[in-house]
Amino acid sequence: MDSGGFFEEGALVSVLTTQPLDRTLDYKAPEGGCFSGAFVEVPLGPRKVLGVVWGPGRGDFDRSKVRSVLRVLDVAPMRAEMRAFLGRTADYTLTPMPAMLRLATRAPGLGDPPSMRKIYRLGAGDPDRMTDARARVLEVLRDYGGLAFTLKELAEMAGVTASVVKGLVKQGAVREEDSPRDLPYPHLDPDLPGKALTEDQSRAADSLRAGLRSGRYGTTLLKGVTGAGKTEVYLEAVAEALRMGRQALVLLPEIALTAEFLTRVEARFGARPAEWHSGATMTERRRVWRMVGQGEAQLVVGARSALFLPFRDLGLIIVDEEHDTSYKQEDGVLYNARDMAVLRAAICGARVVLASATPSLESWANADAGKYERLELTSRFGAAVLPQMQAIDMRAETMQPSSWISPSLRRAVIDRLGKGEQSLLFLNRRGYAPVTLCRACGQQIGCDHCDARMVEHRFLKRLMCHQCGETKPIPDTCPHCGAEGRLAPVGPGIERLAEEAAASFPEARIAVLSSDMFGTARALKQRIEAIAAGEADIVIGTQLVAKGHNFPLLTLVGVIDADLGLQGSDLRAAERTFQLMRQVAGRAGRAEKPGQALLQTYQPEHPVIRAILAGDEERFWRAEAAERQAAGVPPYGRMAGIILSGPEAGPVFDLGTAMARNDAPLRQIGAQVFGPAPAPIARIRGRHRVRLLVKAPKGAPLQEAIARWIAPLRLKGDLRLTVDIDPQSFL
Ligand code: ADP
Ligand code: ZN
Repeated sequence: MDSGGFFEEGALVSVLTTQPLDRTLDYKAPEGGCFSGAFVEVPLGPRKVLGVVWGPGRGDFDRSKVRSVLRVLDVAPMRAEMRAFLGRTADYTLTPMPAMLRLATRAPGLGDPPSMRKIYRLGAGDPDRMTDARARVLEVLRDYGGLAFTLKELAEMAGVTASVVKGLVKQGAVREEDSPRDLPYPHLDPDLPGKALTEDQSRAADSLRAGLRSGRYGTTLLKGVTGAGKTEVYLEAVAEALRMGRQALVLLPEIALTAEFLTRVEARFGARPAEWHSGATMTERRRVWRMVGQGEAQLVVGARSALFLPFRDLGLIIVDEEHDTSYKQEDGVLYNARDMAVLRAAICGARVVLASATPSLESWANADAGKYERLELTSRFGAAVLPQMQAIDMRAETMQPSSWISPSLRRAVIDRLGKGEQSLLFLNRRGYAPVTLCRACGQQIGCDHCDARMVEHRFLKRLMCHQCGETKPIPDTCPHCGAEGRLAPVGPGIERLAEEAAASFPEARIAVLSSDMFGTARALKQRIEAIAAGEADIVIGTQLVAKGHNFPLLTLVGVIDADLGLQGSDLRAAERTFQLMRQVAGRAGRAEKPGQALLQTYQPEHPVIRAILAGDEERFWRAEAAERQAAGVPPYGRMAGIILSGPEAGPVFDLGTAMARNDAPLRQIGAQVFGPAPAPIARIRGRHRVRLLVKAPKGAPLQEAIARWIAPLRLKGDLRLTVDIDPQSFL
C-alpha cells in the first residue's frame, strides 16, 4: 500500500471493490496511468463497479484475461491514512474490506463529472390548480427550507413523476436553475469573537488549544454537567484547528440535535458548516463527500458515519455525548464511532475530545489510567444550578389502579403549573402499554415473527413489535381463545401516561415526545423548538428528551419509573441507569430558575439510586469499576458476542455447540467461550438466534483468535454468523 505509487498505462494494479469478494482483483492501469489510492470504475462480469487502486497487481491471474480499469474518477484519491484506517477498522471489527469501502463511499454519483446541472427550488408563482401530487412537491420544497434538489431527488421525495415537477416549473411554482455541482462550503472564520469564557472554561480551552498545536495525537475527556459550557469550550478547539488550516469533525448522537448546534456554529464562525446525516439530501451528501476530500469543507457536523468521510487533513474530532449508545452501529459494520474516532485520530495525528456530563465507564477508566487527558468544568454557566434530586418512595404513596403519577409528583407538577413553568414526565417506554393481555385466557399478544410482546400504540391505532417493527391492527377478539372485548392494556407507555396527565391536569397543555410519533427528523426538531419556546406546560417523553435538548423553562423532572433500567441482566444496566437519570435530571433548571428532579422508585436504597441522589459520581464510578474489574469484564477484560441465526432452531444450535467444542484458538489466548444459549430475543423476523459470548483477558489478541476460530466454518444453507466485538447490547 504505497501512497506515492504511480502505475503506467497497462501496468497491473490490484483494486479493492465494493463487491462482496474476499480479495482484491487485478486490472490493467488505464490510459494515462493511475495513482495508488485512485477511485476507479472497473468492469466486473457484465457490470461496472466502484473501486480503489490498492497497490501493485497480485499477478496470480492469467494476464491475457486481465481487463482494464474503465476510468479514473474525478475525486481526490484515497489517502494512505484513510486506507490504513479502513484496514485497521476491518481488523478490529472483523469486517471484510469491501464492506469497509462501502461505508467510506456512501454518497451517490461520486464519479459524475462536475458539470452544470439543473436544480429545483421553490418558485414565486402559484399553480393553476392544486393536485395531491403537486402539493406534495411544494411541501417537500417548503419542508427543506430553500434547499435545492435535483429533478430525480425531488420527484422521489415527493413520490411523484418527473413530469409533475416539470409542470410546476412551467407555472412558476417551482424554479429551475443551472448550477455548478458541488459548490465549496462558505468560509468559516475562526477569528470572529467567541463568548467571553469563565475561568474554568478558559483553562479547558487553553489546554485543548495547546494539544492541537502539538500536532500530535491525543484524547481528552471533557467532563462537565449539562449546561457547564462544554460546547463553548470545544468550539474554541474547533477555532484553533481551523486557524491551523486543519479540518474538524463534530459527531452528535442525534440528528435532532444538529439544528441547535448549527445555529451556534453560525453564530461563532459566521457561516454554516457541512452536515452529514441521514436527513441530508443525496446531492448534499455527495457535495460533503467531495468537498471534504478537497479540503473545501473546514468543519463537518454529523452522525457516526461521518467518521468515514475522506478528510484531507483532519485535525480534531469531537464526540459529543460520548457515552451515548447510538455511537455503536448495530447492523452492517458493527463499529463504535467513539472508539474508531480515537483510532482514526491516532493514525492521522489528530486530537479527540470526548464530551459528556456522564462519561462511559470505558472513557472514565482510560482517563483514570492516564491514557486520556481529563478536563472538568465543575459548575453550570451563569445562574443555572444542578437540580435538586429526591426520591419518591412509591411504597409510601397511595396509588389509584392504572395510574402512575404519585400524589407527591402530582403536587409538584401543580405547583409548576401555577408558576407558569414547565414539567417533564419521563418514562422510557414507547407506545400506550407494554403488554396487551386477554382477561379471559391470560395470554399476551406476541409478535408472530419474534419472541417479543406486541406493544399497543394508540396514536398509530396498531400493535407494534419493537424488535422487528411489524404492526397489526388491535384485534377485537383474543387470538388465543377468541373471547370478545376482553383484551386489556397492562402497564404504562408514554401514550398512556399522557392520557393520565390529561385527566389529572385538564388545564395544562401537554406535549408528547417519542421517536415514533414524528415522520421526519425535521418535524421532530420543529416540535422540540416549539416546546423550548414555551408551547407546552407538561412534556411527556422517552429517552429522546434525555439527549441534550435545551428547555429553558423547564424546572421539574419527574421520573416515572427510576427502577426500569435496574432490572436488566445487562452488564451496563447500572451505568446506563445512572447516566440516563443524571441526563434527564439535567434538563431541569437550565436557565435562571432552579430545577428539581423527583425519582419515583420502589427501591430507594438501591446503590445506583443512592449514587444518583447523592450526586457522588466518582464514588459511583469507582464502585462500578471495582465490580467490573473483579468480574474481568469490559473495560477490564475483553468481550465479543457471536450471534448465529437461521430459519430452523436445530442447525443453529448444532453450529453453536460445534463452535463451543472446537475452541482451541480461543483457549490459546486464555479466552473462554460461553454458550450456546438462546439469545434474549430468541427469534427475530422468523430467524432463530443463538448467542455465544467470548471473554478474554485485557491484552489478549481477541480478533485474531476469533478469526482463526471461525475461518474453518462452512455455513450451510441460510445460517448466518455475526461477530460483535465489544458488544453494547446483548439482544
Ligand atoms: P454543555 O455543552 O456543557 O451542555 P453549553 O456549552 O451548551 O453547555 O452551555 C450552556 C448554555 O450556557 C448555552 O446557552 C451557552 O451558550 C451558555 N454559555 C456557556 N458558557 C458561556 C459563556 N462563557 N458566556 C456566555 N454564555 C455561555
Ligand atoms: Zn416482531
